[in-house]
Amino acid sequence: MSTAASPEDIALIVGAGHAAGECATSIRDQGWTGCIVLVGEEPHLPYQRPPLSKAFLSGELSAEQLYLKPQATYEKARIEFIPNTRAERIGRAEHTVALSDGREIGYSKLVIATGGHARRLALPGIEAIEKQPNFHYLRTLDHVARIRTQFHAGARLVIIGGGYIGLEVAAIAVRRGLHVTVLEALPRVLARVTAPELSAFYERVHREAGVDVRTSTAVSGFELDASGDAVAAVVCGDGSRIPADLVIVGVGLQPATDLAVAAGLAVDNGIVVDEHTRTSDPDIFAIGDCTNHPNGLLGRRLRLESVPNAMEQARTAAATLCGKERVYNSVPWFWSDQYDLKLKMVGLSQGYDEFVLRGAPESRSFSAFYLKDGVMLAADTVSRPQEFMLAKRFVGEKIPVRATELADDSIPLKSLLPAA
Ligand SMILES: Cc1cc2nc3c(=O)[nH]c(=O)nc-3n(C[C@H](O)[C@H](O)[C@H](O)COP(=O)(O)OP(=O)(O)OC[C@H]3O[C@@H](n4cnc5c(N)ncnc54)[C@H](O)[C@@H]3O)c2cc1C
Repeated sequence: MSTAASPEDIALIVGAGHAAGECATSIRDQGWTGCIVLVGEEPHLPYQRPPLSKAFLSGELSAEQLYLKPQATYEKARIEFIPNTRAERIGRAEHTVALSDGREIGYSKLVIATGGHARRLALPGIEAIEKQPNFHYLRTLDHVARIRTQFHAGARLVIIGGGYIGLEVAAIAVRRGLHVTVLEALPRVLARVTAPELSAFYERVHREAGVDVRTSTAVSGFELDASGDAVAAVVCGDGSRIPADLVIVGVGLQPATDLAVAAGLAVDNGIVVDEHTRTSDPDIFAIGDCTNHPNGLLGRRLRLESVPNAMEQARTAAATLCGKERVYNSVPWFWSDQYDLKLKMVGLSQGYDEFVLRGAPESRSFSAFYLKDGVMLAADTVSRPQEFMLAKRFVGEKIPVRATELADDSIPLKSLLPAA
């Protein structure tokens, strides 16, 4: 067991999600010769979460198919994996982490990769509702495995939250023959991440597929059935009551920063790290959804919830803790699959002064660009993979572009790039 090894030799990773799984093998690839220990509170090997609201929910993928890497890969890289175990406390002075099974592990370098928890609904009495077997949050493989047992044609599903996760679940559910209602408190779906035009497009697509999308509709409470052991209906602020056989909540993420806060590390909407993923303690790194990190390209700090960010930060931490000081400086990007539509987004659109549509939304293949002072800040591409790849270049390299040319679908996007 690694606790017997000298702490000078131990790279300890707390959390065993997407970022952690990538970081563990990257540390070995970067030449770390000591022990590598991965501690996770879930029972599973590091797995991909995106399919949880897509192909795993629909039953097209099994749990094993979600794993980032097979167990043999970790064994071959001599990575010790400790599942079902929570890291409870970091002793910074002693360089130790106390685990929920009573053990204490020493480290020379510690990586915090604790991701986050599904944000809970802030309603009085929610604790009692959360215990009902047909009320679900959606963050983990086990959450979705439970949801799948109740995912039957004809069931009445109420989804709280019209963000990516809620809408992806709606798309799968309505195809499976469930009766689906989406409740969104804001005036439009995807409001935090995209322009009104894209929200209107996705609302229309869902309604045409049979989903009852209700915007500006906040949930005010729940009714239980006569026996008191299941949610029977969702009650909204406008007094409406929606009968439900199951309820799924997707209202965002609460970054898991409790360990870092208790250890006295800087935390501000995520664990504060520098461009090398180092926290305010030089021997402690943090990666993935739980970090507040600087992005030189965007010129500001941000916290992202995306796989590309988790992967890139994982590789940055691995190189840096092996003494190779890599800098994290990636353009954020994200994707969402709903029905036949492949939405891919790059950049962050906040502060745009020009919105350009290319192609007709009715054709279910189009792009939207967000410009500021003639430079592309961000793009949302719907089933246009090539335009997504090109948009990555426009955004990453801050290439000036004219809105009129961008809007003209007959002009190849590639031709608007400067000559090589
Ligand atoms: C349903 C769903 C769909 C998504 N779809 C997309 C998508 O289409 N595209 C995209 O880019 N991103 C998507 N995401 C986001 C993406 O999955 C996350 O950005 C990514 O998983 C972040 O990885 P992470 O390692 O930082 O955190 P996580 O994957 O959350 O892993 C953190 C792990 O740490 C564990 N942990 C926490 N605290 C402790 C502790 N004290 N001790 C031990 N273990 C601990 C947690 O249990 C968890 O297993 C989706 C997420 C969800 C939930």
